[in-house]
Amino acid sequence: MVAQTGSCLCGAVRYRLAEPPKGLGACHCGMCRKFSGGIELGIEVPAGGVVFETDETLRTYTSSDWAERGFCATCGSSLYWRLTAPGPMHGLYAVAAGTLDSLDGLELTQEVYIDHKPAGYALTGDHTRLTEADIMAMVAAAQEGETP
Ligand SMILES: [Zn+2]
Ligand SMILES: [Zn+2]
Repeated sequence: MVAQTGSCLCGAVRYRLAEPPKGLGACHCGMCRKFSGGIELGIEVPAGGVVFETDETLRTYTSSDWAERGFCATCGSSLYWRLTAPGPMHGLYAVAAGTLDSLDGLELTQEVYIDHKPAGYALTGDHTRLTEADIMAMVAAAQEGETP
């Protein structure tokens, strides 16, 4: 059984996912590295797919023109990245996987911004690896209403 609940380190922010997560994605971009303090492992969740049960200490930081990041003001846990730009993917979350109550049963399915990964470490396994150019092409296609 894959966990559908999670929290920040202090427990002041607790959430429940509408659907069980399907896999883990890693992002190697410089912003996610700063936000997470390491390799950002995320779970893709559609808009409305996260219900916050307690969120008094949840704060958001507008990290770019198209996304914001949620964190706990008390303990500092990184909680999510969320797409704020208009379009069909508006509101999409990448929930910080480490905040799930358990990661049992979840496997790494893709790495993004692989061309930004520092040379000193690597994630093993046979999964999708996308460069920044790959991502930008997918975003452009989505904004034109096409399915990438
Ligand atoms: Zn907290
Ligand atoms: Zn990133």
